[in-house]
Amino acid sequence: MKVPRYGIKIRKRVEMQEKTKRIKYKCPSCKKNTLRRIESGIWECKRCGFKVASKAYKFEQTNI
Ligand SMILES: [Zn+2]
Repeated sequence: MKVPRYGIKIRKRVEMQEKTKRIKYKCPSCKKNTLRRIESGIWECKRCGFKVASKAYKFEQTNI
């Protein structure tokens, strides 16, 4: 029996999500490294409450 290939992809995705959870980004509002991903594409600063929509797994500032 063959091992289903999709298993690898899912594991990689989970790994990436776990990594993303740990990474903190610089908040554009208070300039502290407190910006964290709370949902896919939604980032929130735990310090000042600043919320911003960006890429799903990586914070990229698009407009200021
Ligand atoms: Zn902030």
